[in-house]
Amino acid sequence: MTKKSDTKYIFVTGGVLSSLGKGIASASIATLLKNVGFKVSILKADPYINVDPGTMSPLEHGEVFVTDDGAETDLDLGHYERFLDENLSQKNNFTTGKVYSSVIEKERRGDYLGETIQVIPHIVGEIVNRIKKAGEGNDILLVEIGGTVGDIEGLPFLEAIRALRIEVGRKNAMNIHLTLVPYIKVAGELKTKPTQHSVGELRRIGITPDMIVCRCEIPLTNELKYKIAASCGVDRNCVIESSDSRSIYQVPLLFLKQDILIPISDMLDLGKLTPDMSNWDMLVKRVIAPKDEVSIALVGKYIDLKESYKSLTEAIIHAGANLDTRVNIKWCDSEKIQKENVDELFRDIDGILIPGGFGTRGIEGKIISIEYARKNKIPFLGICLGMQLSIIEFCRNVLNIKDANSSEFDENTKEPVIYLIDNFIDTCGKKQIRTHKSPLGGTMRLGGYDCNVVSGSLLSKIYNGAKKIRERHRHRYEANPKYKDQLEKAGFMVCGESNSLIEAIELKKHPFFLGVQFHPEFTSRLTKPNPAILGYIKAASDHHHAK
Ligand code: GLN
Repeated sequence: MTKKSDTKYIFVTGGVLSSLGKGIASASIATLLKNVGFKVSILKADPYINVDPGTMSPLEHGEVFVTDDGAETDLDLGHYERFLDENLSQKNNFTTGKVYSSVIEKERRGDYLGETIQVIPHIVGEIVNRIKKAGEGNDILLVEIGGTVGDIEGLPFLEAIRALRIEVGRKNAMNIHLTLVPYIKVAGELKTKPTQHSVGELRRIGITPDMIVCRCEIPLTNELKYKIAASCGVDRNCVIESSDSRSIYQVPLLFLKQDILIPISDMLDLGKLTPDMSNWDMLVKRVIAPKDEVSIALVGKYIDLKESYKSLTEAIIHAGANLDTRVNIKWCDSEKIQKENVDELFRDIDGILIPGGFGTRGIEGKIISIEYARKNKIPFLGICLGMQLSIIEFCRNVLNIKDANSSEFDENTKEPVIYLIDNFIDTCGKKQIRTHKSPLGGTMRLGGYDCNVVSGSLLSKIYNGAKKIRERHRHRYEANPKYKDQLEKAGFMVCGESNSLIEAIELKKHPFFLGVQFHPEFTSRLTKPNPAILGYIKAASDHHHAK
């Protein structure tokens, strides 16, 4: 393990506007460095004031990504894990809210001994310490600063990376600035002015970029690269183009083609760098031009907001790449699904997928979809809420428990086949659950848990016979074990359990009908697809070929 002071830092800032793909650019550089053989990690520092994104609406912020240690983090952490194939933790994402909370807590405790607490040095110092902590044990830490240069709330973060660079010395840190080079259609030209202004803004606060990554719709000409280098004061080989690509997983390869590691190595004194990207390259080719094709229906309520299913759609891409298959997703709005149109809707698809979700909206449409998959033997995967609803569907339509419901949708239901984790704790004891008190009240089960797999089950088969698997959770409700016997007698099987908690169920007489209380999508990586999702896509593909 390297010593703390040996960590080198690559700071990534963004200019002009948000959503340019800073997370992908950072993850791409990190992946290249990891494939050279370095121990690499990434940190996302978010200037917003929420303590974490757990309470933010998916409408505004996309998905909440959950780490193994139970942190609710920014969706960029998902990209980092999927690219880097490393488990990240609480340390790898913090916000202004977290920084202020800990500084205020220390102040209340009297840790500052009568000082006046100020943005500089206290807030900035706290940010610096958190960056160093995330870097410990790593050769290289990439630090992505959320937001855009010029945002008022971002200032302490920029001051922190400015100060840290001075502290660790020139050969131990560098700054990469990602900007937009827009294409103006009427002029038929790419424009560099916004980049120049954004770099000017960075300079004003004392940061000089060493490398500019330019997001652009069409490739940059050499002439433009020279112009950007000259006007922004960086070397010509430090202007890297990041033009629109067909897959985000192409980005590391596009950077490598431009020899991005040469100036990075020069600046950080890393020696000759030759990453092995052969496996990655093969998978990317299969993402872009696979041999086979399959279609699945994803039934959800946020279908206009694909960002809120980011990990899931990426996990499906990983499974597809590993099976050399393009997975077409038919996005189905659960509120529009009725018994009358379900046949028409699912006629041409090879699998039905119900992802996680919260709240009552669109529930009945999802239950109708599950019934359709069960009766027509269409491969089905229900994730979290999807699993809970498949139990409700089975109870109502097979066991004839007409009032079967989740207490999430009807607090006073007479048949709570799904009930609050707090109820589970009351009846089964507390030791099974690490509790996280949610700010919204109730108990949230978060992060990675081991799950025992029943041998001979479908779950066991797709996890290659593993007896114990580990997956991540984010839920407030649980399957009620009181109904387990009835379910099993009628053809359902509890195939995964952790203490008395029901973690996975499957239908015995069905080619592939699996419900999982965990979120398999959180652990999927391009180079290591999640077994549950891989198994499901494989089943959909078999269904397709059997038609
Ligand atoms: N709303 C359900 C619960 O809280 C499911 C959550 C989810 O799908 N992530 O248990």
